[in-house]
Amino acid sequence: MSLNEDLYKEIIIEYSQNPKHYGELPEANIHEEGVNRSCGDEVQLHLLVKDDKIIQAKYTGQGCSICMASTEMMSSFIENQSLEQAKSLIDLFKSMIMSKEEVSMPSPYEDLEALKGVKKFPIRVKCATLSWNTLEQAIKEYTRNKPSPTTG
Ligand SMILES: [Zn+2]
Repeated sequence: MSLNEDLYKEIIIEYSQNPKHYGELPEANIHEEGVNRSCGDEVQLHLLVKDDKIIQAKYTGQGCSICMASTEMMSSFIENQSLEQAKSLIDLFKSMIMSKEEVSMPSPYEDLEALKGVKKFPIRVKCATLSWNTLEQAIKEYTRNKPSPTTG
C-alpha cells in the first residue's frame, strides 16, 4: 500500500467517525433522500437554502464509511456556497470519481481526493457518489419548484 493510500484511508476514517454535520435540521427547507441498495447506504439531506445560497447542510441516515465520509465532506464544503457553486462541485467530484482521466480537486477541496480510490471498484463508486447525486436531485427540484423571480 502506498503512502497516499494510507493517508486517504485516514482521511476517510476521520470524516466518517467525526461527523460534524450529522443530525436533523428543523429549519431546513429542502429534504431529499438517496438510497444505494447495492450496499445498504441511506442518506437524507436537510438543507436550509436562502436566496439560492446553502446556509446550512445536515444529513441523517446510515451507510458504510465511504458513504458517510463522502456525505460529511460534501456537507462541510457546500455550506455557504451558492447553488451554482454546489453544482459545479458536484460535477467536479463526479468527474474525479468517474472519468478515465486524472482529475484533481482544487483547494480547499483536496480532502475529497481521499475518495478517488473507489474509481477502481464500481460498487464503491455508488457509495461515494450517493450523497452527491442526492444533492443534485435536491437542487433540481428546488429550482423547478421555485416561484419565478419578479426582480433581477
Ligand atoms: Zn456503501
